[in-house]
Amino acid sequence: MDLGIKGKTAIVCAASKGLGFGCAEALAKEGVNLVICARTPEPLDAAADKLRKHGVEVTPIACDITTDAGRAAVLAAAGHVDILVTNAGGPPPGHWSDWERDDFIKAMDANMLTPIALMKAVLPGMIEQGWGRVVNITSQSVKGPIGILGLSNTARTGLTGYVAGTSRDVAKHGVTINNLLPGIHATDRAVSLDSGNAKAKNLSMDEVKAQRCATIPAGRYGEASEFGATCAFMCSKHVGYMIGQNVLLDGGATVSTI
Ligand code: NAP
Repeated sequence: MDLGIKGKTAIVCAASKGLGFGCAEALAKEGVNLVICARTPEPLDAAADKLRKHGVEVTPIACDITTDAGRAAVLAAAGHVDILVTNAGGPPPGHWSDWERDDFIKAMDANMLTPIALMKAVLPGMIEQGWGRVVNITSQSVKGPIGILGLSNTARTGLTGYVAGTSRDVAKHGVTINNLLPGIHATDRAVSLDSGNAKAKNLSMDEVKAQRCATIPAGRYGEASEFGATCAFMCSKHVGYMIGQNVLLDGGATVSTI
C-alpha cells in the first residue's frame, strides 16, 4: 500500500532507539524526511546514519525534548512540519504512597505538557496547509491502569483528554491527531522495567519475561518495527477519517470488549 507521504517532513521525538526509532524508520521507508532527537548524541547520530540508508534527509538534534530550549531547537530544525510523532522517556515505577508533587510535575512535563506544547507549535502550520498528522506515543496504561506506573497513568490520561478535544477542533482542516498505546515491547524501557521486577521478586530475567508473556494473548513482547509500521499508517493519507482515537498495540493484554 502506498502511504502517500513521500517527501513530507516529520519530527519524531525521542528516536535514537526503541519505539521512537521504530516510528522514524517506518517513516523513512516511506520516503519521509526526518528531524529526530534524543539527549545522548552518539546513539542519536548512529540512528540518523541508519535512517539515511533509506534515502531520506535526517537531521539529528541532541536535546532534552521536555525543555523549552529542546523543543525550540527541534522545531527550528524542521521549519515546515507535516507530521509530528511525540515521545519521551516514561516515568519511573513506584508506589502511590511515595509520589510527591514534584514527581507528578516531572511526569506531566514529559508525558503531557511536552506533547501539548509541540502540538500547539505545529498545528497552525498544518491547518494553514490543510493537511497534517500527529501521533502521540502514550501507553497501554491509558486504557487499563498499571499500579506501579501511576505517574504514567496520570500524565498520559491528561494528554488523552487534551487530544480528545483538540483533535475534533482541527479535524475539519485535514489534520488528524491520534494516540498510539504500546503494551510491552522489546526495548530498553522493557529491560529496565523487567530488571526492577526481577530484583523485587528475586527472579531471573527469563522468569520475569515468561511470567509477563503468560499474561499476553499473543504470548510475546511487541517489536519496535511493527509498532513503527502502525505509526506510519497513522501518519498516512489513508487516515483522514481517524480522529482522536487511541490505538492499542499490546498483544491483547488489556482485556476489554471495545
Ligand atoms: P527506550 O527504548 O528507553 O527509548 C527511549 C528513547 O527516548 C531513547 O532514544 C532516549 O534517548 C529518548 N529520550 C528519553 N527521554 C528523552 C528526553 N527527555 N528528550 C529526548 N529524548 C529522550 O523507550 P521505549 O520503550 O522506546 O519507550 C518510549 C515511550 O513509550 C516511553 O514513554 C515509554 O514509557 C512508553 N512505553 C513503552 C513501553 C515498552 O514496553 N517499551 C510500553 C508502554 C509505554 P536518550 O536517553 O539519549 O535521551
